[in-house]
Formats: sequence, C-alpha cells, structure tokens
Amino acid sequence: MYQAKEQRYDNMIYRNLGKSGLKVSAISLGLWHNFGNTTPLTNQKEILFDAFDHGITYFDLANNYGPEPGSAEENFGKILHEDLAPYRDEMVISSKAGYTMWPGPYGDWGSKKYLTASIDQSLKRTGLDYFDIFYHHRPDPNTPIEETAQALDLLVRQGKALYIGISNYQAEQTQEIAEIFEDLGTPFIVHQPRYNMFDRWIEDGLTDVLAEKEVGAVVFSPLAQGRLTDRYLNGIPKDSRANRSDSPFLDVQRVEETITIANQLNEIAKKRDQSLAQMALAWNLRQPTVSSVIVGASRTQQLEDNIKALDNLEFSDEELKQFDTILDG
Ligand code: NDP
Repeated sequence: MYQAKEQRYDNMIYRNLGKSGLKVSAISLGLWHNFGNTTPLTNQKEILFDAFDHGITYFDLANNYGPEPGSAEENFGKILHEDLAPYRDEMVISSKAGYTMWPGPYGDWGSKKYLTASIDQSLKRTGLDYFDIFYHHRPDPNTPIEETAQALDLLVRQGKALYIGISNYQAEQTQEIAEIFEDLGTPFIVHQPRYNMFDRWIEDGLTDVLAEKEVGAVVFSPLAQGRLTDRYLNGIPKDSRANRSDSPFLDVQRVEETITIANQLNEIAKKRDQSLAQMALAWNLRQPTVSSVIVGASRTQQLEDNIKALDNLEFSDEELKQFDTILDG
C-alpha cells in the first residue's frame, strides 16, 4: 500500500490561481500521454506516486486522454481508489471536455448537451464525486458563448466542479467569456494555453487579459513535447514521443526543425547550471500570470529533473535578451 513521503511539501512552490484562494503546485503533472491503456499500470503508478511525493498536487486530465479516449481517466481513477484515496483532499484534479468523445452531434465541442453528459461520464470513469477544476477544452465557433458559459456555471451549481477553466481560447474570446462569467458569478479562475519558448503567442494579448481579469494560467506543453529538453539534442531516440504512432502532433521532422536552436539554448542552460528542461520551465514561470507549468513525463527521472527547475527561477536581462535573439533568429 502506497504511503506518501512525509517531506513532500518541503521543496515545492505553490501559487494561487489568479485572485482565487486555490493554490496549485508550480510544477504539475499532465496525463495526456503515458496514462492510457498502452502503458502498464505499474509505470503509471510510479510516476503518479513520485509526483505526489515531490509535492505536486495538481493532476490534469481530459475526457479524451488515452489511448483509448477515456482510458487515462479510468486508469487514474483506479490508482486513486487503490492507493491515493487517503490523499484526495490534498489533490487538485481537473478534467475537460471540448474534443470528440462519441459519435453524433452531441459528443463534441461546447453545447450544454455535450458538456453536461461529458462531465458525468468523466466523474464515472474516475470515480470522483467532483472535479476541482473543469475546463472547456477549446472554443466552439458554432455554439453561442453564453450557452457554454451557462453550462459550465451550472456544473458548479450542481456540485460537479468547484472551479471553471477554459483552454485554447484566444485573448478576445477570453475577455468575452470572462465578462459573462462575471455576470453569472461563476468561479472562473484559470486559462490553460500552450506556452513554451517556441510558442509565445500568449504574450500577444492573452496575458494582458488574464492579468486584468485576475485569472491564472497553467500552461501546457511547456517543454514543447520534449523538444526543449536534452531528449533530442543528439538525435531522436527510438522510445521518444516523436517516434510514437499515437502522438499525432510531434514527429521526427518537427524535432529536426528545432534541434539547432535547442542546442544553442542548452549552452545558456549549462552556464546557469541547469538542464535545458529546467531552464525552459523556469522561463515559463517568470510570467506573473503563469501559476503552474503542466509537464508530461514518461519516467520518474524526467519528473525529478523538471522539479529541480524551482531551484533557480531568476533570469538576468542579458539572458532574456539572448533568448530573444536565439528564438527570433
Ligand atoms: P511537455 O512539453 O512537458 O512534454 C512532455 C514530454 O517531454 C515527455 O513525455 C517526455 O517525452 C519529454 N520530457 C519531459 N521532461 C523531460 C526531461 N526532464 N528530460 C527529457 N525529456 C523530458 O508536455 P506535454 O506536451 O506532455 O503536455 C503536458 C500536459 O499538458 C498534458 O499531459 C496535458 O495534461 C496538458 N495538455 C493540454 C492540452 C490542451 O489542449 N489543453 C494540449 C496538450 C497538453 P518522452 O515521452 O519522449 O520521454
């Protein structure tokens, strides 16, 4: 039976999500990859326990994480109930709906019909009574934004979610839905965008909206799926995500495009006495709106490397300028 380490809270940093009272670990764990039915449950347990033992409290799921879609929630639920149940109140667990889950017009996007059914399915798969955070996974151009907002607000009133988040919404869409949530009195506290050294789109308007609305950001793919780590500095390992057939957004060609820049960044990381992954995470966390970086990990070694990013979160102006030169070049 798993017993959590007593010292688990000693070295982690916790940050509030926007103006809310909810704190999340500055490093959190995402279950998009490595928690489906193709990964042995023992590996999944190892990573989850290691995360919790190091003070990670925030675990990020979605209805479609797998493979098969739904299986990450099922596996997480199994582990939670077998081993982590005594710690439920020390964990922030999120799920999302917004991508395709079942056939027909009601298994996708942002209607009240879909969101209501999807959260019920996710609660069943995980065996949870409620999610701490429930996200709309992507904006829906064909559903009135008011309907999506009202559906999310209802989930909180029904006790199925404590807080609401959105993901992949542009700055203007975020502003619009934030105003509706304000009118409804919804606890909308978090946005989940992609953000990393190779993809800085949030700096172009979104962070301003989040700061003004006092909403936090937890950012996904902070390591560009591994391209901002030492994983690919000397080639492409066989067992890496870039070589996996169930990883549609990363392939050998995309990795090759950034290997030179990653090596240049790694030279700066060495001078800072950090791994490239640690520096890339620290760089994300320099943003005042970013409360947490959600990392993925295929092994505990990666997770532990990433957590050490918190040992040095400071950057000189000179370093920041060097990054801009490398990344814009
Ligand atoms: P990362 O950018 O952290 O990539 C994780 C991958 O990078 C790992 O699987 C591993 O690759 C490699 N890696 C991580 N740490 C190290 C290290 N220290 N050294 C070497 N390699 C390392 O994040 P993800 O793309 O996995 O996304 C994280 C989470 O964000 C997801 O699990 C999900 O919860 C969320 N997400 C949300 C989305 C949304 O639309 N809201 C979309 C995408 C993700 P390898 O497997 O090759 O070992």
